[in-house]
Amino acid sequence: MSLPDNPFFGKMRQKSKIETALEENLKAEEQKQLEAYQRMLNSKNPVYAQAQAFYSPAIAAYAKSLEYSQSTSAAVLNENIAKLKDAEAVKLSKPMPDHIATLTAYRAWRATSQGLVPLGRSINNWLPKRAERATCCRVASHRAPVRDCECGYWSFKSMDLLQKALPDYANNVAVVGSVEIWGRVIECENGFRSEFAYPKELWLVKPGLEFLSWEYGVPVRMIDKS
Ligand SMILES: [Zn+2]
Repeated sequence: MSLPDNPFFGKMRQKSKIETALEENLKAEEQKQLEAYQRMLNSKNPVYAQAQAFYSPAIAAYAKSLEYSQSTSAAVLNENIAKLKDAEAVKLSKPMPDHIATLTAYRAWRATSQGLVPLGRSINNWLPKRAERATCCRVASHRAPVRDCECGYWSFKSMDLLQKALPDYANNVAVVGSVEIWGRVIECENGFRSEFAYPKELWLVKPGLEFLSWEYGVPVRMIDKS
């Protein structure tokens, strides 16, 4: 079968084995992610209580969209488009506030004039007023985070767990605090690796960092408020 040429990308070609394998992988990952969500939903761990209350509808919707994306065919697509042609357009208001689809976790940073900087070696920056998708420095092709990798924004499940991990970095830690994480989330023993993360509240353990509050647009706690 000959494939058509595309004026922008040149000759089209058949899907390669690598592409097929990657797609399969992604499907399996999404399935695993769904199972992880469901495990979280069924967990008795109090850490999840708040998330559980909020997550149920989101997880059900995710499961439905996954099922749909794995089963949709051209016929179904055309049928749906035909239905939409006759449908009336309505404007919907958001049924749930923003924070519902996020989890709260904990982190520490260094601080520079650029803002918050990770303590370890990470290619993911914490840019003010921007939610940047995590990227993987090892495998450019996968959507971070992936279970058998180290990519994603790292965060701990509790402030206590964070504190236990900090002694080696005592000199460098300028800020600790809570973060909201969302998107694809991989749960680890003590914390999470997530696709997206943004500071929620910053605790300034070193002086002179008040600018982080307006820079990032989040509340800060200060040791000495004078
Ligand atoms: Zn990775």
